[in-house]
Amino acid sequence: MNEQIILSVENLSKTYESAGEPVHALKNVSFSLKKGELIAVMGTSGSGKSTLLNVLGALDEPNSGKVSVNGQYSKSMFKEPLATDYRRDNIGFIFQSYNLLKDLTVEENIGLPLLLKEESKDEIDRKTGEMMELMGLGNWKHHRPVQLSGGQQQRVAIGRALITEPPIVLADELTGNLDTNTAKEILRVLTDMKEKFNQSMLVVTHDPKVATYADRVLFFHDGEIVDEYKCTGTDDIDRIMHIFQKILEGQPV
Ligand code: ADP
Ligand code: MG
Repeated sequence: MNEQIILSVENLSKTYESAGEPVHALKNVSFSLKKGELIAVMGTSGSGKSTLLNVLGALDEPNSGKVSVNGQYSKSMFKEPLATDYRRDNIGFIFQSYNLLKDLTVEENIGLPLLLKEESKDEIDRKTGEMMELMGLGNWKHHRPVQLSGGQQQRVAIGRALITEPPIVLADELTGNLDTNTAKEILRVLTDMKEKFNQSMLVVTHDPKVATYADRVLFFHDGEIVDEYKCTGTDDIDRIMHIFQKILEGQPV
């Protein structure tokens, strides 16, 4: 990790309307993500974690606040066609439910973003082949998602998210459907890729074990960052669980 800031978030707010009432999903959220940094986002259910990722991925528009990438700020980044360009050039998304296309093979799912970027067939074959090897999916390339385990499906989804080497990876509960050992293996794959491509990652999780893979943990409650923890490699899990427990109990942190 170096000190270069890739993503800077300033006073981000997002309010939804629900049954005529405003829901303040994000309230003046500010933080920055460095090149090569992995930040875990933890928080109670409904605290705004998914909203944050959706806004940072320009899938949703904030009411106010600024998002800058590599020091560049564009007021129109949330409007089409800029939102699509921004996503294509900067963002890899990984979801809890994998979101694979069921009629496509492993190879076709992973190569899809390159097809959408209109890369040549040779390039797509080469890059997809490399990615399947990195993900340990070499023997599965002609299989369809339904024929794979959950962990394998998530590896396909990671391969698809990373195939364009996006500088920023956003993952929402990516191990939420996986058992502990598979979750560990997925986190190892993700952090290996982060090192290899010097990417920056924001990983939403409710699992303290997942959060220990991060450089820093941001704790959300009611749309706000209420605490932050820097992982040291010693006792991280205990300290993260302690902070999270206090937030769950509604104690001031
Ligand atoms: P988390 O991912 O931390 O569980 P979310 O970001 O999904 O939380 O939601 C934050 C708050 O915003 C919740 O109160 C949720 O009900 C509300 N919310 C999220 N999306 C919408 C939406 N599209 N319309 C109305 N309310 C929403
Ligand atoms: Mg969520």
